[in-house]
Amino acid sequence: MQPKLNTVWLGLIILAGVFSLAYLWFTLFPGRVAPEAGQYFSAGEISRGREYSQAMRLIFIGGFAAEAAFLIWLVFGGKGAALSRWAQQLTGGYWGSVLVFFLTLWLFLRLINLPFALYGGFFWQRRWGFSTQTMGSWWADYLKGAGLDLALSAAGVLLLFWIINRRPHTWWLAGAAFFSIWLVIQTLIWPVLVSPLFNRFVPARDPAVINMVRKLSQKAGLPVDQVLVMDASRRTTRANAYFAGLGPTRRIVLYDTLLADYPPDQVEAVVAHEMAHWRQGHIYKGLSLGILGSFAAWGLLFLLLGNTMPVPLRHPPPVLWAVTLLFFMLVSFAASPVENYVSRIMEEEADRVAVTLTGNAPAAVRLQVNLAAKNLADVSPPAFIRWFSYSHPPALARIENILKAGAAPGRTLPLKN
Ligand SMILES: [Zn+2]
Repeated sequence: MQPKLNTVWLGLIILAGVFSLAYLWFTLFPGRVAPEAGQYFSAGEISRGREYSQAMRLIFIGGFAAEAAFLIWLVFGGKGAALSRWAQQLTGGYWGSVLVFFLTLWLFLRLINLPFALYGGFFWQRRWGFSTQTMGSWWADYLKGAGLDLALSAAGVLLLFWIINRRPHTWWLAGAAFFSIWLVIQTLIWPVLVSPLFNRFVPARDPAVINMVRKLSQKAGLPVDQVLVMDASRRTTRANAYFAGLGPTRRIVLYDTLLADYPPDQVEAVVAHEMAHWRQGHIYKGLSLGILGSFAAWGLLFLLLGNTMPVPLRHPPPVLWAVTLLFFMLVSFAASPVENYVSRIMEEEADRVAVTLTGNAPAAVRLQVNLAAKNLADVSPPAFIRWFSYSHPPALARIENILKAGAAPGRTLPLKN
């Protein structure tokens, strides 16, 4: 059983194909660097950033194209239906065949993705001095992550097929609801419950850091219960910070690399930026949009299946899982410019509010310069790549935005929402 290749499927595949080719083109031929970049970055920094980013982009688009091509071949070439029948013959029972089909597909996709993950996540990171991991500890992380993914995905697939069996006309609503709950868990609970599996967190001891966080949190009107330091240096030299917590309990997590490698006024700029995200409700706005998108996508999947692959009311074949996966892979890829556009707007707002919180625009600019140089960012990415895949504005745009916010006379904090 395979879906009919109607105009919606064809449209999705063509759109993903066109975006992939454009992405590849601008990765290979990124064009000239904006002349303003020379104001803040040396020629060496600019070219190193380009070289590092170019390989990461090839890995990203190569990984996506390989997995998507495999799934398209499986679903529309009839091989998925054959695999589905094989799983049914092998196990005899219905639920066993769903599980065997899922496991086989999961393994194939993992194998296809592995070279990209290994090269981009380990070799290329070591080549530029970002990774502090050994091969053994990278594999330990990879297997831990894969095991977690396998257990959660298997549970999700069984749940999906169970709902389709129970609610053949409204399963898409249940799917969207579960997906929404999953989004909430990932955003709010994951950092508190799962991150400790990978890193150690200890309360910050430096009184200057604690004081700085307290002062900012007062000014922002956000109570912070805990200031934690994470041992990020176990894996990476990159610096970051984030807010985590549910409802009234909020904690701020600082990478130990941030405290070690950045001067205090730049650490303050990072903390202020993260606080601004919370203060302006970006976390909840992002979640709401994600939930809205989830209902739209599941609804579209339901309509599309009704038109191209009538699902039997009882016991839909296991291949339905491959069709669902392909659909979500194509839709989320095609929708990433929208998602990133919204994200960039929030990042710009967070940068502006952060400057108002600290009153120190020059430090925020130095932070951007420092972050871009240390992280080997492409400071002047091609317009298409920026539009398609940048969740943050590139460094030059952020600097310009910060300077504008710092120069605005009589600025006050925008309303909390
Ligand atoms: Zn941000």
